[in-house]
Amino acid sequence: MLSDFRFDRLFINGEWVAPLDGGVRGSIYPATGQPWGDVAYGGKSDIDRAVAAARAAFDGPWRRMPGWERAAILRRFADLYATQVEALARIESRDNGRAIRESRGDIGLHAQYYHWFASLADKLSGRTIPMDDSVHAFTTRLPVGVVGTITPWNVPLMAAAWKLGPALAAGCTVVLKPAEQTPASSLALARLFDAAGFPPGVVNVVPGDGPVAGAHLVAHQGVDKIAFTGEGATAKNILKTGADTLKRFSFELGGKAPHVIFADADIEQALNAATGSAWALCGQSCALGSRILVERPIYDRVVEAFRERASRVRVGMPLDPATHMGPQAHQQQLDKTLSYVDIGRQEGAELVAGGSRLTAPDLAGGYFVEPTVFAGVAPTMRIAQEEIFGPVAAIIPFDGEDEAVSIANGTPYGLAAGLWTSDTGRAHRVANRIEAGMVWVNTYRYIRWSTPYGGVKTSGWGRENGIEALDSYLETRTTIISTTGRFADPFAA
Ligand code: NAD
Repeated sequence: MLSDFRFDRLFINGEWVAPLDGGVRGSIYPATGQPWGDVAYGGKSDIDRAVAAARAAFDGPWRRMPGWERAAILRRFADLYATQVEALARIESRDNGRAIRESRGDIGLHAQYYHWFASLADKLSGRTIPMDDSVHAFTTRLPVGVVGTITPWNVPLMAAAWKLGPALAAGCTVVLKPAEQTPASSLALARLFDAAGFPPGVVNVVPGDGPVAGAHLVAHQGVDKIAFTGEGATAKNILKTGADTLKRFSFELGGKAPHVIFADADIEQALNAATGSAWALCGQSCALGSRILVERPIYDRVVEAFRERASRVRVGMPLDPATHMGPQAHQQQLDKTLSYVDIGRQEGAELVAGGSRLTAPDLAGGYFVEPTVFAGVAPTMRIAQEEIFGPVAAIIPFDGEDEAVSIANGTPYGLAAGLWTSDTGRAHRVANRIEAGMVWVNTYRYIRWSTPYGGVKTSGWGRENGIEALDSYLETRTTIISTTGRFADPFAA
């Protein structure tokens, strides 16, 4: 279905249309730095017509459709999605350079997200509120309305699944604006929505530049909610742009997750998780354990293991199944990562492995960088405080639980954390003190449709996945009905 798909049209109101005030441009393959395909991007007029279509679909068939019918269409879509995992993985790996083995694993789970939210679409009940006999009070859950979803370049299809699943189950309609660097997989997604038989306008996909199409979507009077995944700085802009409309916002933002390894842990397992997580997606994921906090008695052993494992990471072309780590997704991200390597050196951290761009002839055109390890990192260094979003592990020593907790909580972020210990009491004690939306103990990055995901502090507002995700796509209406029909005359003598 997707093998000969063309990406040079927008998907608006159930039709494939040419951009009105955008255009078509080459999307870059980060492994070569060259365009790999022509992709449509929209401007303000395209956002206007997508919002109008989403509004008409919301006011028309979608909101009134019984939940089980919405669920049936969503399930049909999920089944279709499951048949297209390989094609979607190849498209996404071309667009953002992620190693195909990772794209397959991630995208292979998405159908289940849509199935899971479909299973909730006909269970959105309110509750009866006990009152005195004179009234009957109850609540009803209603869809928020038209949702603008704005997604990042690192995991376009995952970010879309986490938003579209609950939004559509709740009865909302959607305008999806993917990141300008990686628009292709979201257009392919639209092809599946089209084929699954969603009414026109329920899902619209308009790639476009953030400050133009994205900002217009945020400011739009016809949009009731923005569901955003991306950087904190962008979220602040979005809040300012959207302030006049007082629409709803949910934010999945950055992280600087601590991966805490106590000396009593199963060290080999901890190392599997910590090294895998530091370099997954070439370091470009919000929940990766980019700060590795290691109890001092095992510090040297862990540093040496990181150095040795870095030498075993196969960096290469994203579509090669043997590749562990592809390139950075775009030139700016490559520059950012390399600049943080310089910062780490200047701050006095010890560069144990990597740190350079790869210049072998077959990789020189792409944005490849070595898996990188810094040891002797102080918690206050910028490489331990700021989100690099590259494959740069910062290994920090600590002594005892109190110091581990203090370092773990010592950044503005609070998305995720990992703990490795064989002491169950310690696992509970420390997990309880960590400031993060997710804490994994003796595992890492276990994320599923049913487990709420999101950040505290500057890492976000609201939760995706789990039943909690539905809350941000629903309003609660309270209805109070008199059982007597009597209302006292306020002006009686
Ligand atoms: P980004 O903020 O640069 O861009 C994200 C999206 O916002 C893109 O679609 C972009 O076009 C759009 N955008 C940019 N400026 C805009 C504006 N003024 N108005 C409206 N939209 C605008 O983020 P990114 O670089 O694509 O993604 C990386 C960031 O995303 C990292 O900080 C990462 O931690 C975060 N992230 C978080 C999660 C999570 O679940 N918490 C998941 C993935 C990525």
